[in-house]
Amino acid sequence: MKVSVIGGGTMGNGIAHVFAQHGHDTTIIDSSTDALDRARATIEKNLGRMVKKEKISEDDARATLDRITTTTDPGAAAEGRLVVEAVFESFEVKRDIFQKLDGICPDETVLASNTSSISLTKIGGVTGRADRTIGMHFMNPVPMMKLVEVIRGQATSDATLQFVTETAQQLGKVPVTVQDYPGFISNRVLMPMINEAVYCLMEGVATREAIDEVMKLGMAHPMGPLTLADFIGLDICLDIMEVLYEGFGDSKYRPCPLLRRMVDAGFLGRKSGRGFYEYE
Ligand code: NAD
Repeated sequence: MKVSVIGGGTMGNGIAHVFAQHGHDTTIIDSSTDALDRARATIEKNLGRMVKKEKISEDDARATLDRITTTTDPGAAAEGRLVVEAVFESFEVKRDIFQKLDGICPDETVLASNTSSISLTKIGGVTGRADRTIGMHFMNPVPMMKLVEVIRGQATSDATLQFVTETAQQLGKVPVTVQDYPGFISNRVLMPMINEAVYCLMEGVATREAIDEVMKLGMAHPMGPLTLADFIGLDICLDIMEVLYEGFGDSKYRPCPLLRRMVDAGFLGRKSGRGFYEYE
C-alpha cells in the first residue's frame, strides 16, 4: 500500500525504512530539504549495515530505497492509505498537521501519530475523523525494536485498531494495544523510574555509576537509567514527566528538581555533549 511518513527525523526515517523494506511505497514528507537528505542517507547507511550482517540481500536494500520518495509538499500525503506523523513533540505542531491532513486525505485514509505522550483523543479531536485516528508508537531505533505501542483514542474505531494492528504485524513488529492515558504504558512506567534515579543522585544515595550499575547488574537492564536518560534527552524526559504530572494531578509524578536544573543548564544528554555523563 501507499504510506506517507510526515517528518524524516530520528523516528521518521526509521519508520519509512521499515515500511519500504516490507514492500510499501513510502513517501517521506518533511518541511526541511536538509532533513530529507539526511533521512535518505541514514536509511541507505542502515540498509548497508543490514546487508553486511547478511540480514537482507543487496537487491532487497536497493528495492527498499527505490520504494522511498521524499518531498517537502504536504499535499503528497493525499496518496497514502496510511499516514504516520513523526514531527516534533508539540501539540500545536501536530494539530496544524492533522487539520491539514484531514482536509487533503481521502476519507478512508487512517491518520496515525508516533507521539510519545500527547493524547490521541486530543489529536483525533482536531480532525473530522477521530474514528480513523490512532497512535502508532514505534521505539528507537525503529528497524531494530520489535514493539509498536498502538494507542486507542476515545473515538478510535475497531476497524482502525485492527487495520493498524495487522499493518504492524506485517512489518514484523509486535503491536500492543493500550488505552489513551498519559504516557500510555511505555513512558508511564519508564519515566518515573528514570525520575526516581535522578532523585537518588540528587539526594546523594549513590554515584551516577553506582545507580546505573545496580539497575544493570541487579535488574538485567541493558543500560542504567541515567545513561538511558542521556540517550533519550533530558528535555524529553522532563517534558514527559510534566505530561504525567499534569495528566494525573498526582504528586508521585513530580519531576525531580535536579532533572529540571540539568535542562535549564542546557545539559540535555548525548545530543548536547553533556548530561549525567560527558560525551565527546
Ligand atoms: P526529530 O526532531 O528527530 O524529527 C522531527 C522532524 O520533523 C524534523 O526532521 C523536522 O524537520 C520535521 N518537521 C517539523 N515540523 C514539520 C512540519 N510541520 N511538517 C513536516 N515536517 C516537520 O524528532 P523525533 O525524535 O524523530 O520525534 C518525532 C516524534 O516521535 C515525536 O512525537 C516524538 O515524541 C516521537 N518519538 C520519539 C522517540 C525518540 O526516541 N526520538 C521515540 C518514540 C517516539
